[in-house]
Formats: sequence, structure tokens, C-alpha cells
Amino acid sequence: LKGTPKELKLPKTNYWLYPSHDAQANFAAFDADKNAPFPLTYISFPSAKDPSWSERYPNKSTIEIVAPCPYKYFEAWKDMPWGQRGDEYDALKAEFGARLMEQLYNEMPNLRGKVDYFEVSTPLSTDYFCAYSRGELYGLEHGPERFQQTWLRPKTRIAGLYLTGQDVLSCGVGGAMMGGVLSAASVLGLQSLNLLPFMARFKTDRNTAQEGGAVNA
Ligand SMILES: Cc1cc2nc3c(=O)[nH]c(=O)nc-3n(C[C@H](O)[C@H](O)[C@H](O)COP(=O)(O)OP(=O)(O)OC[C@H]3O[C@@H](n4cnc5c(N)ncnc54)[C@H](O)[C@@H]3O)c2cc1C
Repeated sequence: LKGTPKELKLPKTNYWLYPSHDAQANFAAFDADKNAPFPLTYISFPSAKDPSWSERYPNKSTIEIVAPCPYKYFEAWKDMPWGQRGDEYDALKAEFGARLMEQLYNEMPNLRGKVDYFEVSTPLSTDYFCAYSRGELYGLEHGPERFQQTWLRPKTRIAGLYLTGQDVLSCGVGGAMMGGVLSAASVLGLQSLNLLPFMARFKTDRNTAQEGGAVNA
């Protein structure tokens, strides 16, 4: 977007938008008909949360919008190369993109006309860039079975082979980061205890830095 987060009044919070309180029915409706309302739309304002953003990128801001999408709506193009999936694929992407942008403008009408550039990704984009199998941006399904898998942990039966990332613990950036901590601790064994004083110091430094208005990590 053109403009600083402050000028555009971008919040530091995330928006979670639902068409109604009946989440199961909303998901089922969208699964049955792609023209049904998105069962959930998440809008986040990363540049508003970053204290040094405007120094590094003057007069610009960013927004991310995410909505769930059944893989089947894009499956027909799964074997075609990225960036060359044809007009029909591009048209469907544009349609979903326009709907997402309208949701943004519904919440923040002041942003209409301020968007300089936007790009839409689909489950096929996630497959292509992250090498997932069906566009599952949050990794393995979060059913009870997943958490009962005894093999889903950093240390494997194969000597020297460790797993890491969101799937060994829990999803999202925080889950993936803690998956990394677990994997590192698993590799280091008891030596990982040596890291505890460092982690405690890091936390204190961060707190002090934030109180002083600067982040110095
Ligand atoms: C559009 C989008 C928005 C998101 N928004 C949020 C958000 O706001 N908050 C949040 O917490 N989470 C968000 N997530 C989820 C978050 O990005 C993931 O949970 C997190 O990145 C998972 O981290 P990871 O390290 O496990 O896997 P990844 O980040 O997927 O890293 C795996 C890496 O392995 C590489 N790779 C795969 N196969 C191979 C191979 N065979 N050889 C070599 N390299 C390979 C991939 O290219 C990739 O770089 C979002 C995801 C997407 C797609």
C-alpha cells in the first residue's frame, strides 16, 4: 500500500472474520459451493507490528489476507507449471482475490484506492513453494490421531536423521520455531542444558531493549 501504517491507520491486531457463529455449517457451505462466503478470513497487518518498518520502507505498508480453500477448487491445474496455468486458472484466482479485497475494504473503507499492488496465491502455490502435497499451509491435519503418532518427534529410528518444523510439534511460525528448539535439544542431548543461561539472558536483553524503545536481538 502507499502510505505508512500510521497514515493508513493499520491496526497491530489481526482480524478473524466469520460469516456467522456456525463454523461447521460455514465450512460445509464453502466446501459445497465456491461462491458461498469464505468460512473464515484472517487479515493481518505485518508492517504495523514492526517498529523499524517505516525506517526501512518509507511510505509503504503491507497487509496479508488468508482464507481456507479446498484443494479441489484448483486441483485441475495441479500438474501445470507455476506461472503458466492458463487463463481459466488466472480468472478463478482473480475472482477469489477480488472477494478477499472486498472483505478488507468492508472492514477498512479508508484503504480503497490505497493498494498499490496485490498478489493472490492458491493451494497450488503452497504446494509449489513449500513442497506440501495438497496446499496444506499449516502442515499435517490437527486431528487427535496426529498427536498420537509416536514417530512424529525430532529423533527418528534412523541414526543421525532428525525431523523438525511445525509437524513435530504444532503449526504456525511459533509452533515451527519451538519444533526447531526441540530438534536442537534432541541433537544436543544433555548439552542443550548449557543453552539455558543464554536463553534467560536473551529474554532479559529483549525486555530491556523493548523498554528502551529499540530492539537489539
Ligand atoms: C500464505 C501463508 C500465510 C501464513 N500466515 C501465517 C501467520 O500469519 N502466522 C503463523 O503463525 N503461520 C502462518 N503460516 C504458516 C507458517 O508459514 C508455517 O506454519 C511455517 O512456515 C511452518 O514452518 P516449517 O519450518 O515447518 O516449514 P516451512 O516454512 O514450509 O519450511 C519448509 C522448507 O523446506 C523446503 N523443502 C521442502 N521439501 C524440500 C526438499 N525435498 N528439499 C529441500 N527443501 C525442501 C521448503 O521449500 C521450505 O523452505 C502461513 C502460511 C502460509 C502459506
